Amino acid sequence: MIIKVGHLNGEVKLYDLADQTSAGHLMQLIQSELGCEVQLVNAGESIAASALLGSESIYYVTVDAEGGKKKKKKKKNFAKPKKKKHRHRKVKLATLKLYTIDNKGTVQRSHKQCPQCPQGVYMAKHFDRHYCGTCHQTFRMDEATIRANLEAIKKQQAAKAAAAAAAAPAGGAATGGAAGGKKGKKK
Ligand SMILES: [Zn+2]
Repeated sequence: MIIKVGHLNGEVKLYDLADQTSAGHLMQLIQSELGCEVQLVNAGESIAASALLGSESIYYVTVDAEGGKKKKKKKKNFAKPKKKKHRHRKVKLATLKLYTIDNKGTVQRSHKQCPQCPQGVYMAKHFDRHYCGTCHQTFRMDEATIRANLEAIKKQQAAKAAAAAAAAPAGGAATGGAAGGKKGKKK
């Protein structure tokens, strides 16, 4: 049978081949002719080497282009360290902190109650504000209180740092060990 092959230069060549010739055989023929690896395309689709040729269609020669290869993605280098997400920590029996009972047995509420919400809604105490988690009402504390609170926080942090520094040499090189030591000291 006669097989029509369209070459890269636009020329259509005829190949006289035995019936039931595979595409792979024709590819090898053209490859030795052109001296490079080729692919055969029919009706816009490349043909497997095992496929049988048909005399009624035209096969086109294509060559794998190096430029067609997908570019390797460059690995991203992040300049800034990842931000630590705020994680909600569950505090067990947090409501106990809202009340204190003195030795006479009277209950004192240590947190401000939200004026907008029904009774029993207490506001969170931050260093500079009272905040209602239900209606998002915020009250700023007065400057003197804020300053006092900030100082208390600073003292707490200094104490923590001192405890960490003291625990570090004893805890050894491993970070896990040092953290464990810190926890032990707090209690
Ligand atoms: Zn509220």
